[in-house]
Amino acid sequence: MAKFLIAGAGIAGLSAAIALARSGHEATVLEQATELSEVGAGIQLGPNAMRILTDWGLGEAIRDKGCEPAHLIIRDARDDHVLTSRPLNDQDNARRKYGVPHVCIRRADLQSVLLQAAQDAGANVLVGHMAQGLHESRLAGFDALLGCDGLHSKVRGDLLANTQHGGKPRSTGHTAYRAMLDMTLLPLELRTQSVRVWLGASQHVVAYPVNQQQMNIVIAQEGAPTLASPMSAQLHALIAAVQANGGFTTWDLFHRSPMLSPKFYAKGNVALLGDAAHPMLPYLAQGAAMAIEDAQALGSAVASQANVDMALQAYAKARWKRNAHVQWRSQMQGAAFHASGFMRLARDAVLKVAGERVTAMSWLYDYQNNFKEST
Ligand SMILES: Cc1cc2nc3c(=O)[nH]c(=O)nc-3n(C[C@H](O)[C@H](O)[C@H](O)COP(=O)(O)OP(=O)(O)OC[C@H]3O[C@@H](n4cnc5c(N)ncnc54)[C@H](O)[C@@H]3O)c2cc1C
Repeated sequence: MAKFLIAGAGIAGLSAAIALARSGHEATVLEQATELSEVGAGIQLGPNAMRILTDWGLGEAIRDKGCEPAHLIIRDARDDHVLTSRPLNDQDNARRKYGVPHVCIRRADLQSVLLQAAQDAGANVLVGHMAQGLHESRLAGFDALLGCDGLHSKVRGDLLANTQHGGKPRSTGHTAYRAMLDMTLLPLELRTQSVRVWLGASQHVVAYPVNQQQMNIVIAQEGAPTLASPMSAQLHALIAAVQANGGFTTWDLFHRSPMLSPKFYAKGNVALLGDAAHPMLPYLAQGAAMAIEDAQALGSAVASQANVDMALQAYAKARWKRNAHVQWRSQMQGAAFHASGFMRLARDAVLKVAGERVTAMSWLYDYQNNFKEST
């Protein structure tokens, strides 16, 4: 049994703790914050994430706290006309196609399920503890250190100092405005159990329920807000409701170049997971899903390799290409969502002709970590 020190109790850190504890290893998680919550934030869990969470026995708890939206509906932000829509959890649904549903949930609720599962599996989670970086694992007698400490990862800073992947993340110039609103504060026509997206030039808006009572709303804006943009009646009502009830919180969105080799993911007895390794624009709603996929691959690696350093290498090999691809595709999705002029016309034509196929994203949701092939 190896002893792992995990920096960060976000989705990556808690998922890693679950995967390691399930593989019979000891996991200690240090979280700098004194409370595990993120105000005003929801999260979508596509079938690739839900498949793993269900394998860990957490499907029911997550579905109980969250909800299974019926449809994905994509509209034009200027006039609300529907560009495409498809069932998410209906008829030809995620459950039938992938065996699991597409779930939306409050991030704090997801973290509480993960925290409970990590503790039940035997992990030791210490909040209000700052991980000091690379040397702590050696000092305290741990066999390995996992950097699950997010976008501004200290572990990554130490591990990749003086490499092309060292340094700070870059601002993308994109901003997310986020809000969570009680359904009763929304106009009736906006109180639906669907994921709704409005596409505009240099911006898009996403609204989805996180349970039966609350709606998560995000405006993603590229560059400075263009107040002159025409806004549909539904969007106008949605934004007015948020502004009348506490307003939006603002998040700058950052980027790091995808790592083009596994050697940057793991060195010796240190490895990176989640946003510490591969932060991405949120336009495919996959950052947390990739952290969960990372954790599952790590669990398989340590279960099949007695040597911890070799297990971390195997994990790195299993994950780097997939994460780089999803980072890149998230950026492409942003370009398509925010298109204007001829590109917008071309995008809308594709959505009209093949919207259901394009938005089904089997390449993303069908993926399963094939650990043996990648090692
Ligand atoms: C607007 C927006 C919407 C999104 N929507 C989705 C979505 O729908 N679906 C999806 O899959 N993803 C989504 N994402 C992405 C997702 O939020 C992230 O990819 C995910 O939270 C990354 O998890 P993480 O654990 O790697 O990092 P974090 O969530 O950042 O967690 C890192 C943790 O480490 C702690 N920490 C940092 N440094 C230290 C230290 N030195 N010692 C101890 N603790 C430390 C931090 O306090 C934090 O708790 C979205 C992101 C944004 C911005």
